[in-house]
Amino acid sequence: MTETKHCKRSNGTERAWFRTREEAEASAGDPKNHPVYRGDAAHLCGKCGFWHLSRAEWLFPEWETLEEKATVN
Ligand SMILES: [Zn+2]
Repeated sequence: MTETKHCKRSNGTERAWFRTREEAEASAGDPKNHPVYRGDAAHLCGKCGFWHLSRAEWLFPEWETLEEKATVN
């Protein structure tokens, strides 16, 4: 294993990441994270192997992007 790299947003900041779906969904449901993550869907990232939160309507475009850049081992 090399060092863990987490995904970045297009603006260069690190994306929120979680080790489990439960952790991601708990964060999406936590009022202190609203409105940013409110209603977001947890999904397992094919790039970093952690869970992210994304708007459901962003998931499919994001997956297309991930496939292009994917270096899944
Ligand atoms: Zn990721």
